Amino acid sequence: MDLTELYQEILLDHYRHPRGAARLDHIPQEKTHENPTCGDSIKVEVLRDGAGRIEAVRFDAHGCAISTASASMMSERLKGATAEEAHESAREFIRILRGEREAHALDDWGDLASLKGVIRLPLRVKCATLAWHALLDSLPPS
Ligand code: ZN
Repeated sequence: MDLTELYQEILLDHYRHPRGAARLDHIPQEKTHENPTCGDSIKVEVLRDGAGRIEAVRFDAHGCAISTASASMMSERLKGATAEEAHESAREFIRILRGEREAHALDDWGDLASLKGVIRLPLRVKCATLAWHALLDSLPPS
C-alpha cells in the first residue's frame, strides 16, 4: 500500500465511522455552516470541562467524505486542548490547506495528514476547512 492509498483508507475510515458525530438539533439552524459549491453543511458544538479544556467536539454533518472526515479528525485532534490552542490549530490548518504553508506542515497532524492531497484543489479545500470555520465560530476564545 503506498502513501496515497493509506491516506485514502484513513479518510474513508473517518467518513464511515465519524468520531464526535451527534445529532445537534438543539443548535439553531442559523449556526449551520455551509459549503454550497459541494452541498456540505455542518453544526459544531464544543463541550469544555471545569478548567476550560475541550472535553469533546461534537458535530452534525451532512456532505461529502472530505468534509465529514475532516470534522471527525478535528474532533479527535482537539480533545484536551484549550480554547486558545484550538483556535490556533484551526487557523493554522486553514492556512496550510489554502497553500499558505508548506504541505509537509501537516505531517505532524496525525490522521489529518491524509488531507494533504486536498491542498490546491480549491473546491475541496472548502470541504476540508468547513468544520474548522464552524469550530472557530462556536468556540469563544478564552
Ligand atoms: Zn464537500
